[in-house]
Amino acid sequence: MGARDTLSTAVGLMEPDLGHFIAPSNGSDTGPTYPESWNDILMPYLRDTLVFHGCYTTEDKNRHLKFFSNHVTRWLGPGPSYNPDTGLAVMKYPSSLTNDHTPFEVSCCWKSKLQSGKPIVRYVTDVIPFDLEVSRMAGFKSAIEVIAILDRVSQSPKGELVLRAFPKLWSHITERMMEYEQKTHSEPCNKCSPSAVFVGFDLVDSVSFAKMYWLFPSCHKTPELVQGVRHMLSSCADNSPTVFPGILQNWANIENHFNSYPDILQPRILSVDATKFPEARVKIYARRIFSGTNDFSDIEPHLSLNGTISLPEAFRDTCKSLWGSLVGPEDSQPGKGPKYCLLLYEIGTKLSSKFPAEGVSAKLYIMCQEIPRVDSFLAQRLYQNCAVLQDADLIKYELRPRE
Ligand SMILES: [Zn+2]
Repeated sequence: MGARDTLSTAVGLMEPDLGHFIAPSNGSDTGPTYPESWNDILMPYLRDTLVFHGCYTTEDKNRHLKFFSNHVTRWLGPGPSYNPDTGLAVMKYPSSLTNDHTPFEVSCCWKSKLQSGKPIVRYVTDVIPFDLEVSRMAGFKSAIEVIAILDRVSQSPKGELVLRAFPKLWSHITERMMEYEQKTHSEPCNKCSPSAVFVGFDLVDSVSFAKMYWLFPSCHKTPELVQGVRHMLSSCADNSPTVFPGILQNWANIENHFNSYPDILQPRILSVDATKFPEARVKIYARRIFSGTNDFSDIEPHLSLNGTISLPEAFRDTCKSLWGSLVGPEDSQPGKGPKYCLLLYEIGTKLSSKFPAEGVSAKLYIMCQEIPRVDSFLAQRLYQNCAVLQDADLIKYELRPRE
């Protein structure tokens, strides 16, 4: 079932009880029937994650669940159906958010020891076109409507969910992405997924901080993609010069690095989020594609932009030991092990006098589906290598003794 894979992929951890996610047999010989809506399927996941793992009051939990049910499920498209011949779920839209096309992924975030092992719960969703047209352009068009929904909710009276968002800025970027799509990617393309825009939420106490992600065409080469990113950032700077005075300066350092390694670095996603509201946080996600070996030494120069970003020592050591524990020598050969990892660059919006050290920071995203290991192995390695997880019950649960 898709939702189970989604959770275990996103969190790389436990698999909750699935008894209430799959409808029981309807008594005929046609087998089970799935609930028809994503709301029925996904609400239990979100509720269980909030109840068992997060640190939320009952009122906070109800606000987040109500927002999901009333609004978010409107852009997830229809839920899966059931094929009695194969026994498998049939997805109605080919979302690229997850490997099995589920347009939803829940994850847990441990950023600080102050959380005492209790994660911030987050989820991200694909914007499925309202008319179910399978195209990136349809995804962008529906994203405009989704942003209008977020705009309305963010202005709701006190007492309801507090939603932090940047509707005007997000609409501006979405419109520029539509123009870019029309100009550079209007022919039918069988290489790119129709997914164009993801929307995510960080649930911090009673506040939901929204995040938008725009996907660039995966069939484009790096030099073209770099130009596309610069075009988007330039448009933001022109539109809001006081908000983004330094973004192009800070981006230039990353752009130069990408242009030096066009065959192994590929920008994939632009993100602008409200997690530091009222300031906008701007990020670029890029693939580090492994063409030969995949040691940490193949990653580090791109995290640090060849040493121009000073990586905090503890961060660098954690990345190195964790990657080394997940990817063994047998995986670090051409054609084996992970094909890529994701590098996240946060681009400072302000002018930086200490360019580039203060203007750009980087993170490593290890894609669990690229690591050929079971969840319990991943949990064990996370526990062994990440100090912040020592109190995390969710990790300890996965490490419990099995019969
Ligand atoms: Zn394409």
